[in-house]
Amino acid sequence: MRRAIFPGSFDPITNGHYDIIKRGVSLFDEVIVAIGVNAEKKYMFSLEDRKRFIEEAFKDEPKVRVITYAGLTIDLCKKEDAQFILRGLRNPADFEFEKAIAHTNRRLSKIETVFLLTAANTSYISSSIVRDVLRNGGDASDFVPNSVPSKL
Ligand code: ADP
Repeated sequence: MRRAIFPGSFDPITNGHYDIIKRGVSLFDEVIVAIGVNAEKKYMFSLEDRKRFIEEAFKDEPKVRVITYAGLTIDLCKKEDAQFILRGLRNPADFEFEKAIAHTNRRLSKIETVFLLTAANTSYISSSIVRDVLRNGGDASDFVPNSVPSKL
């Protein structure tokens, strides 16, 4: 079984993440969306809400599972018997950042990181900009799946 972990904060899930997960489903037998728990980070949405938004968005897709985790992503891969880490690339800054993580993970394990280029129409979307829109009373419906509130 070819299984990939798609790790991230998903605070909240955006149409960019959605696109990567959908395309991941066509490449792998299972895509596990893994929400990382970092005690030092402040989130806009609770862990439960972030999980629910993703589960609702993929309720008709049995190949997608959503979990939460703390610790190293490669340790999670071993635990879940996943051979791949899935990541999205939006721009050169993403590439530089992801390259260092992927090399490190490869050095520490046999896990391969698979990168998908973002769809052109979602490449500018980020969770942090969505949070800014929401925090300031804007309408985020063009940037997030329907399961995420478009206004706060
Ligand atoms: P973090 O930045 O905390 O790792 P994110 O939830 O922001 O987590 O991102 C998780 C993954 O989703 C990363 O691989 C990131 O590059 C990818 N991603 C984020 N936004 C987009 C987007 N608009 N299109 C495609 N991939 C994206």
